[in-house]
Amino acid sequence: MTDNRHFPWRRRLAAIGTAFALGLTAAVAPSTGATAAESTLPSGNTAYRTLADYERDMATLAATHPTLVKPITLPYRTTSGRVVRGIEISDNVGVDDGKPVFVTVGMHHGNEWPSGELTMEFAIDLVKNARRGHVAELLDRARVVVVPVVNVDGFVRNRRQTDTDTDMNRNYGLGWLPLPSAGSAAWSEPESRNIAWLLSTRQATVFNTQHTCIQVVLYPPLQLAAGPAQDASRLHRLASAIAGHYGPTYRALPSAEDYETTGEAIDWAYYATRGLSVTSETCPNPGMARTYQTQVLDTYAAHRAAMLEALGTAADPAEHAIIEGKAPKGAVLRVTKSFPLYTNPYAQPDGGVRPSSFTTTLTSDLDVVRPNGKFRWAVNPSYRPVPAYQADGVHGDHHGFYTEPWILTCERRDGTVLQTTPVNVDLGDRVEVDLTPCKRNFHRKDVR
Ligand SMILES: [Zn+2]
Repeated sequence: MTDNRHFPWRRRLAAIGTAFALGLTAAVAPSTGATAAESTLPSGNTAYRTLADYERDMATLAATHPTLVKPITLPYRTTSGRVVRGIEISDNVGVDDGKPVFVTVGMHHGNEWPSGELTMEFAIDLVKNARRGHVAELLDRARVVVVPVVNVDGFVRNRRQTDTDTDMNRNYGLGWLPLPSAGSAAWSEPESRNIAWLLSTRQATVFNTQHTCIQVVLYPPLQLAAGPAQDASRLHRLASAIAGHYGPTYRALPSAEDYETTGEAIDWAYYATRGLSVTSETCPNPGMARTYQTQVLDTYAAHRAAMLEALGTAADPAEHAIIEGKAPKGAVLRVTKSFPLYTNPYAQPDGGVRPSSFTTTLTSDLDVVRPNGKFRWAVNPSYRPVPAYQADGVHGDHHGFYTEPWILTCERRDGTVLQTTPVNVDLGDRVEVDLTPCKRNFHRKDVR
């Protein structure tokens, strides 16, 4: 249950309640917190958060709801040494139980404050409503990962770039080009590597990155030369649904048709994981002031509906794949794949013009916890879209998918691998894996 006594943002309202209890008139109490009483946000906030506010709110959610909220510390500190934090929200959040994952992040651009606020408010909203109705049902079927401020240095300085003057949303490796502010190399920035880690270590079936200030929801590709994404119709369906919640003036389209860029989060995310990856940009209608009122308070209800839609898509078995079977209780199952990806061709130090390559490794775990050993694992399809960016340049006419199985291992808790098996599973499909060898040897002390 939600315990408001432990929510700092509730203290203000509680203080107002105390004022009433002390016999102050109704006219007096709201005047000290007039706008607080009018806030329509889950937090009750009426002004932008500081970094300390974000950190305190996330820590409070985790401390007061330990079975529902787990803190995440991203692995790389920012250029100026700051820690990037997030939270994971689900029923029984501490167990890797194979649910599909919805990842939503704010503030790739440190001066786009509403993107962090909307993202944080959605997290608080989920926690407050975690035992009720539609939200309860979604959190039973899926896991949500929220990182409200990914470019912490930029946020603290209220500027778009990181502290190396890099636009982190030009620094992702797939199709990277050494444009001004794209960083010294693909993945040069710890902030973009953090997001790669986040999406590489869980089965993110939907990924949303929140921005301001256009009225548009974008999906891959970033460049016209790359040609349409293999899952263009699925991407368009999700982007359109999100745009529809934000309002009739919002459009959904491939990023390249808005304006062409390279090295953005959604391109790498989609082509590496096949999770549906979108950039949601919100902005007030033309001519309206860009204030906390218009960009956060007046936008939140639509954002809530949009993100619940995205979460529903993440949870929908038609939009991912299922691996199921029976394993020894207490075993750890792991799926992994590793593959090269390429930047755009660009002038290398030796004078040659060609792409650089980098390796993406996806790996995620499932804890077998049910007494009968049955498990059901929501994963992204093993068939990976062929990207336009290749070792010999850009091929916009490339299409289709690599037949590239997940490599599934069945292990003891100490890491002893008892079985390794490839698994091919397509979108909307489910496959049953036979883990008899793992079951046979799991409790045998002579098998190492
Ligand atoms: Zn932005």
